[in-house]
Amino acid sequence: MTDFDVIVVGGGNAGFCAAESAAEHGARVLLLEKAPEAEAGGNSYYTAGAFRVAFESVAEFRDLLDPDTTDRLDRTVVPAYPASAFEADMRRVTDDRCDPVLTRVLVSRSADTVRWLAGNGIRWRLMYERQAYESNGSWVFFGGLFLGTVDGGKGLIAQHTRAARDAGVRIRYGAEVVGLELADPAVRGVRYRTADGTEHVVTAGALVLTAGGFEADPDRRERYLGPGWGQAYVRGCATNTGEVLDLALAAGAARHGDWSSCHSVAWDAGADRAAGNRELTNQLTRQSYPIGIVVNENGQRFLDEGADFRNYTYAKYGREILRQPNGRAFQLFDAKTRPLLRTEEYDSRPISEAVADSLPELAAKLGIDPDGLVRTVTEFNGSIVDVPFDPAVKDGRAARVDPPKSNWAQALDTPPYYGYAVGCGITFTFGGVRIDESAAVLDESGTRIAGLYAAGELAGGLFSGNYPGGTGLTAGAVFGRLAGEHAARHARASA
Ligand SMILES: Cc1cc2nc3c(=O)[nH]c(=O)nc-3n(C[C@H](O)[C@H](O)[C@H](O)COP(=O)(O)OP(=O)(O)OC[C@H]3O[C@@H](n4cnc5c(N)ncnc54)[C@H](O)[C@@H]3O)c2cc1C
Repeated sequence: MTDFDVIVVGGGNAGFCAAESAAEHGARVLLLEKAPEAEAGGNSYYTAGAFRVAFESVAEFRDLLDPDTTDRLDRTVVPAYPASAFEADMRRVTDDRCDPVLTRVLVSRSADTVRWLAGNGIRWRLMYERQAYESNGSWVFFGGLFLGTVDGGKGLIAQHTRAARDAGVRIRYGAEVVGLELADPAVRGVRYRTADGTEHVVTAGALVLTAGGFEADPDRRERYLGPGWGQAYVRGCATNTGEVLDLALAAGAARHGDWSSCHSVAWDAGADRAAGNRELTNQLTRQSYPIGIVVNENGQRFLDEGADFRNYTYAKYGREILRQPNGRAFQLFDAKTRPLLRTEEYDSRPISEAVADSLPELAAKLGIDPDGLVRTVTEFNGSIVDVPFDPAVKDGRAARVDPPKSNWAQALDTPPYYGYAVGCGITFTFGGVRIDESAAVLDESGTRIAGLYAAGELAGGLFSGNYPGGTGLTAGAVFGRLAGEHAARHARASA
């Protein structure tokens, strides 16, 4: 007799989904989390709680929305985002490198999984403040993303923890998994260490690995992502250091996906590099660059701020910032555009901000070459196509410079000027282990490793080079739920 039916390793969104799903299928479940309870929740705790789902009409979710968030619904436009559009976005932003089977599972189960989560007590809202602009008296959503959890990632983890406990899941915090014991196909063992250094062994019929990627380990970042990545700012938890990934590979799991790229964004340059901030969480991100310009210390632009809606560019622009001198860049706005910035990010304090009445003065305050900046802005201002500015749609208001700004170009000409210093914030890594459509871990020959399942960022194959915003939580939920269900079935069958 094993100690449990299913052991889940890692207590973020994917782990909780696996644990709740396994319990729902009758399993006795233990969840092991490395962090102490006060620091738990993984990267999922730090999120904005945005979930990308396929849908035909927002009415499908009407009954799931928290009543406090529906007062503007009759003045709200949420363009349909059918499965074909979600799948096309995955293929487009990853340059067709997303695993087609896993992508189909992700997309086809996204809406149903959100409904399942609601049944477990996860609360939903429309994300007006992040994903909509007011246009002609209506709120118009953009970027295929509208649904978020009440109280963001903090709310998500609190609601998950309650749901898991209510379902009878046992949770051990401060339990760092240091070994997998897989010799006996009917008894899967896990070795974990507690804060006092003691090692413990627990057994189960099946294991679900949901211990995230390796983004919080500078050495693994340098090894897999390349030189310079040791300097990135960690946006989330300090505990996703990749050791469970290594244990899975040592146990025969095949690698899958893109081990050389990751999700990384513009992040406040004054933030701590080693880990995110549990109070400010996602407020340290700086995501309103599509309506401004971004320059480096030489005052030069180096990316197309308006190439697409923010959701489709932000996750690859951290890498571009890391490549700039001293790994720094500056987002610049003026009195016209400053009111359009996301308040939760740009009104958050502390912030690496400078305000000045002239561009040279702003440059001096931020450490930018003043002549370079004035040259860049003069050329940019003189190259803007004269069509109306509309941040809710791709307006075609381009600046014809090199690099171009394809949409939302506004002359930087109205003081005061505002500048925000940013670095590269790493969110999560894209490489992981290979799983199939039931979240079973596969070996190099494509055979299932009996009783071993994985989900969340520990499973690779979905993302490469870039990522459509809001997909990480959805992927963790879809595959975590599948992993829990199949692990419970496996444990029952092998008991
Ligand atoms: C600031 C920020 C904002 C984000 N916003 C969004 C968003 O709005 N929408 C979205 O879709 N995605 C967002 N993401 C990405 C999102 O966080 C991830 O896609 C998702 O949380 C991954 O879930 P997970 O369960 O795989 O990993 P995590 O939530 O990171 O959980 C992994 C857990 O495993 C534990 N662990 C690690 N090693 C061990 C070990 N040896 N033993 C036991 N436990 C271990 C960790 O402590 C951690 O708790 C954001 C990320 C960050 C950092």
